[in-house]
Amino acid sequence: MRFKDDSVNPTGLRPELLFAIMVARDVYLNRGYELVITSLNDAAHSTTSLHYSGAAVDFRTTVINPNEDWDSVARQIKRRLGKHYDVINEHNHIHLEFQPRNPYA
Ligand SMILES: [Zn+2]
Repeated sequence: MRFKDDSVNPTGLRPELLFAIMVARDVYLNRGYELVITSLNDAAHSTTSLHYSGAAVDFRTTVINPNEDWDSVARQIKRRLGKHYDVINEHNHIHLEFQPRNPYA
């Protein structure tokens, strides 16, 4: 697992997101891929993005293998993380965010 380059800013990374990154690393490794983090608390995201609160991460996809079924990879990560996480194939990366559904559950 590695950052794409020095532009990736891990400042304020939530522990819940660290757990999700560990799960994603496992899913990637099972398919023979190194997990490359392309964005954390950095870059240009939409104003309300969870990237700015350390609760969202982007992973490299098509650069690794354009023929992989990245929808399936995203679904597999989502299944292992459960309802408090969203995992979306954005077609040039996978966006993953921690968004708890019910803080009292
Ligand atoms: Zn993102």
